[in-house]
Amino acid sequence: MDMQTSFLDRLFESGLLIDTGVDGLYGRSGQFEDVITAFERLIDTFGGADGAEAMRFPPGMNVALFEKSGYMKSFPQLAGTVHSFCGSELDHMSLLQCMEVGDDWTKDQKATDIVLTPAACYPLYPTVAKRGNLPKTGGLFDLQSYCFRHEPSKDPARQQLFRMREYVCMGTEQHVTDFRQTWMDRGVEMMKQLGLDVTIDVANDPFFGRAGKMMVNNQRDQNLKFELLIPITSTANPTACMSFNYHQDSFGLKWGLNLEDGSVAHTACVGFGLERIALALFHHHGLDVKEWPANVRKALWG
Ligand code: ATP
Ligand code: ZN
Ligand code: MG
Repeated sequence: MDMQTSFLDRLFESGLLIDTGVDGLYGRSGQFEDVITAFERLIDTFGGADGAEAMRFPPGMNVALFEKSGYMKSFPQLAGTVHSFCGSELDHMSLLQCMEVGDDWTKDQKATDIVLTPAACYPLYPTVAKRGNLPKTGGLFDLQSYCFRHEPSKDPARQQLFRMREYVCMGTEQHVTDFRQTWMDRGVEMMKQLGLDVTIDVANDPFFGRAGKMMVNNQRDQNLKFELLIPITSTANPTACMSFNYHQDSFGLKWGLNLEDGSVAHTACVGFGLERIALALFHHHGLDVKEWPANVRKALWG
C-alpha cells in the first residue's frame, strides 16, 4: 500500500472524510468542516480590513459565460457539464428500459444552461463588467465556491468537488501585482502560524494539447502563476494549497473590464484550496484536533 492510499484510508477510518464510492468525491465530518470554518476566519483576520466586496455564487455557472471564458480551449479534460432529461413520456419509458437492461441511459440527456464552476472567480468577471467602469480605487472581491474538476484520484488532496476561497483584484498592473505580492507574504505568515512548512514556486496550469504547451511556457516565463506548496501526500512533490495568479489584461480584454479612465483593467486572483489546507493540518499535526499544538489551536480558535 502506498503512502497516499494509507492517508486516505486513515481519513476514512477517522471519519474526517466520508467515502462515497467515487474517487475525489467525499463527505466531510463536522470536525473537518470546523477546521475549514476556523481557517476561513483566519483568512478574514488577514484580509478583512482591505474592504473586499463579498459575493457567493453557487457551484454552477451560466453556460454562455462559461463558453466565453475559453475554458474549453484550455482545460476541456477538467470541465463538467450539467445534463437533464427533457423528453416525453415515451422517452421516459425508453429511459427506464435502458436503465433496466444496464445500457447507457445518459446518452439522451440534454445539456442545461448550467456548467459546474471550475474556479471560484469565473462567474465574477462578467458580473463586474455589467456594472460599467470600475471606480477609481479599482475592484476587490471576496469569493468562495465549490468547484468541479474532472480529475479523479486516490490522492485525498486532489478532489473532484472542493472549495476554493478567492480574492480577486482589478486595477492597474502595479495595483494588482502589489495585491498578489501582499497575499504571497500573508500566505507564508498564515501557514507559519499554523505550524506548516511552505515553499513558494512558479507554477503552470495543465493546458490541454500541443497548443497548450506554448501557454505553459508563457505562464512560466512571465511568472504569471505562483503556488504555495505544503507537503501532504509526498514530501518530494508538495501540494499546491494556495495559488497566486496574474492575468495581465487578458480577462479585462475578454470581459470588457475597464478602469475609471476607460483603460483596460489588469486582474489578479489568489486562491486558497480549503480542503487541501485542512488536509495539510491533519497530515502534519495528526487526525485528532485536540492533540494539535496549542499555538496552532490558538491561531484557529482563539
Ligand atoms: P494542481 O497543480 O495541484 O492541479 P491547480 O494549479 O490546478 O492545482 P488552481 O487552479 O490554481 O490549482 O486552483 C486554486 C487552488 O485550488 C489550488 O491552489 C489548490 O489549493 C486548490 N485545488 C486545485 N485543484 C484541486 C483539487 N483537485 N482538489 C482540491 N483542491 C484543489
Ligand atoms: Zn481565480
Ligand atoms: Mg490542477
